[in-house]
Amino acid sequence: MVRTPGLGRIVLALALLAILLLPQSLERHTEMWDPRLMPPARCRQHRNPRRNLERWLRRWARRQRQRPQPKRPRRRRAKGKRPVSAPVRAQSALPMPLHLARRKAKAQRATATPPPPLEPPDPLADLRARRGWVDCILRLELWRVLVRIRWPHGPRCPHCGEKDPQYLELIDPTYRDGLGRWQCRVCAEAGDPGEGGTFTPLTGTILDGMRVDIRTFWLIVEGFVEGKASVETAEEARVNRHTSDRLFRLLRAAIYQTRSTEPIALGPEDVVEGDEVYITAGLKGQAGGQVLDRPPRRRGLKRRGRGTWDSDKVPVFGLLRRDGEVRLFVLRNVQTETILPIVKQMVRQGARVYTDNYSIYHFLSQEGYQHATVNHNAGEYARGEVHCNTMECTWSWLRQMVRTYRGISKVYLPLYVAQFEFFYNRRHKNTWNRTLDLLAVVLQVDGKALQECVEGRHLAKVCPVAG
Ligand SMILES: [Zn+2]
Repeated sequence: MVRTPGLGRIVLALALLAILLLPQSLERHTEMWDPRLMPPARCRQHRNPRRNLERWLRRWARRQRQRPQPKRPRRRRAKGKRPVSAPVRAQSALPMPLHLARRKAKAQRATATPPPPLEPPDPLADLRARRGWVDCILRLELWRVLVRIRWPHGPRCPHCGEKDPQYLELIDPTYRDGLGRWQCRVCAEAGDPGEGGTFTPLTGTILDGMRVDIRTFWLIVEGFVEGKASVETAEEARVNRHTSDRLFRLLRAAIYQTRSTEPIALGPEDVVEGDEVYITAGLKGQAGGQVLDRPPRRRGLKRRGRGTWDSDKVPVFGLLRRDGEVRLFVLRNVQTETILPIVKQMVRQGARVYTDNYSIYHFLSQEGYQHATVNHNAGEYARGEVHCNTMECTWSWLRQMVRTYRGISKVYLPLYVAQFEFFYNRRHKNTWNRTLDLLAVVLQVDGKALQECVEGRHLAKVCPVAG
């Protein structure tokens, strides 16, 4: 027969089992929470840079394996073209760990040069941006000066010459910031087909159609008066050099056309000095529309004998009255027959004429002049009041002036000589008065014909060489 265990025995067995298992569970619990099992502080992972970096690299390699980057197609770069600096993508490049970046930044701070101290802003910057006094004056004022030079006796119609103010009407006083536009009723009623009898003070002058600002124009003219080169003037006036060069050529040609032919010595009380000089100048390019039929001029070209036009040592003959004006002439050669008409026109008979003892001047005493010479060959340069040193001094100034323009063509040499003569005769005036004189000369020249000559490269016809 099978005996079933009693309830008391089952309870006893469970109690025994619990007594056996309880210490094990208690022991495991205490093992898990024992603080001595914690790693030491120096080994903690978030403080160990080397392990952090290793773990970070492992993570990075795992991510690359799981998600490989697609290869970008290679693009050919155009030669000579700078590559567009594309921002480096964070996923494709390896960013620097924070602690390394901090170390690098610290090293950079230690080696970097200190930034330069900030300069204080220029308190005169707005004044320096200007070109001088001319930018501080109203355009209207400059136009008024120009109009007064053009019409010293009031407005005058350039088409019919009408001066009566009742027939001339100022129809647009604000035209070009103060230049003004007039209308002549005589021309308007006569049926002027073009502009209805209207005109400005610049109509018919070489400044007709001038597009530069009046201030810029004034600056360029002042540069010309002060003897500056056109490139230098262009930089000062802040215009293209061709603008100033074209205006310079117009001014020079106008001076040449209006040069004085009045006699400088009228009687025996006047003392005149005569001399000649040779300026080395050849043909350059297609100057004056002339064809170059020989090799171009070389530096250091030494030719024997007296200079002539053909030997590229162009003679310039000069007559000067002491304490007076000077007259200069570019000649093909210096011979008695060349200079005889010039002396007769410029010096009245009876005047005292002093020259060197060059044989071409021997006719002077036969023509009724009180002629005296100094012998340079014998070392004699002055004998009392007999000398031509004033004229020699003028040549020194002329050579200096020609040198400013760095090798001019002999075709244009008469223009430059006329320019020199014009300003030499006004050498005791200041820049303002010389500018007024120049504008007065320029505004009375027939502008259209001169502009065509200057632009058509036919200046050689405008300034033929004498002799
Ligand atoms: Zn008119």
